[in-house]
Amino acid sequence: MPPGNRKLKNVLDDLKQIEERLSKRKNVNLFLDFDGTLTHIASSPDKVKVPQEITSILAKIREFDNVFVAIISGRSFENVKEIINLNGIHYAGNHGLEISGVKRTEIVPNAAQLVRTINKISEDLNKVLLTVPGAWVENKSLTSSVHYRSVPASHVPELNRLVGEITARYIDRGIVKLTRGKKVVEIRPNINWNKGKAVKWMQKNIAKKRATNIYIGDDVTDEDAFKALDESAITVKVARDAKVKTEARYFVNNPTEVRYFLQWLLDKAGAS
Ligand SMILES: [Mg+2]
Repeated sequence: MPPGNRKLKNVLDDLKQIEERLSKRKNVNLFLDFDGTLTHIASSPDKVKVPQEITSILAKIREFDNVFVAIISGRSFENVKEIINLNGIHYAGNHGLEISGVKRTEIVPNAAQLVRTINKISEDLNKVLLTVPGAWVENKSLTSSVHYRSVPASHVPELNRLVGEITARYIDRGIVKLTRGKKVVEIRPNINWNKGKAVKWMQKNIAKKRATNIYIGDDVTDEDAFKALDESAITVKVARDAKVKTEARYFVNNPTEVRYFLQWLLDKAGAS
């Protein structure tokens, strides 16, 4: 069925079906977005804290030999790893441009040069965006994010204009591209890579084979992953209601419901 026409069910209302699906394959690959999925979105990304319950669930889930866990975030690789701070699970930062244990250049061939370009763009943006109250530039090494969650609506067009001005010459030369998320403009390398490609890469190289794949995420960038996974996957969009336009098969209302679902998974894994 085309996206949008599918009736989305809350995953918590379909646990019997999910249990049946999980019972068909021995292994589970659990792919999780971070901000807005495991944790509520904070006023600024550096204020975010991982709920203790989440840390404790992930710490238990990673002990199962038949489960692969990866956190796939738009944050920098170092940042997401530092925040979650658990060994034994995998991390993918910068929307999957950087993956645990994988050389940067395997995914981004000209990584070193790109880091210099992103650095220059971030510095220039920092200078010009001084005129926009609340704007914040986050240099994430392979990408850069311009956050405008705290920017008054009347200043957003100016912010967009300035970001366009600074990045134009790099976009024209095919070096970077702009993408949009929730109250953020991102400057990313102009390569054909996204969370979906990262998930496919992990499935092929490091995740469990013959596994049921589960992906939970809330943002536009997670749609690439929902699309990349086949019909047998359990894809869950975190959204306020069932009417959300998404490629995912299920939804949950908020990170608290994500936690209920993860707890349920943990209980199932423990019982089998
Ligand atoms: Mg998110």
